[in-house]
Amino acid sequence: MARHEGKCSNCGKTHYSPRQSDIVVCDCWEHCPMCGAEMTPYAPDLALNTYGFDDRRDLAVLMVCALHFPMFFSTRKPVEVVCT
Ligand SMILES: [Zn+2]
Ligand SMILES: [Zn+2]
Repeated sequence: MARHEGKCSNCGKTHYSPRQSDIVVCDCWEHCPMCGAEMTPYAPDLALNTYGFDDRRDLAVLMVCALHFPMFFSTRKPVEVVCT
């Protein structure tokens, strides 16, 4: 059986697919680059009310790791890997 593979440009992880040109979304963007924990989706209301990060409003923050102080805000986007 043919197996096509593609490498994530962010973390280097290799993904496999039986179909060529298949697009696989790597899940590395959901993990904190500092501690490796799974981050939680960014909730602006929660963050702003609790921590007053008003200046973060303009940033395209997608995920948050609450294990750090101040919290780590990730602007990473899902990485699409094309299997060739
Ligand atoms: Zn990745
Ligand atoms: Zn973390």
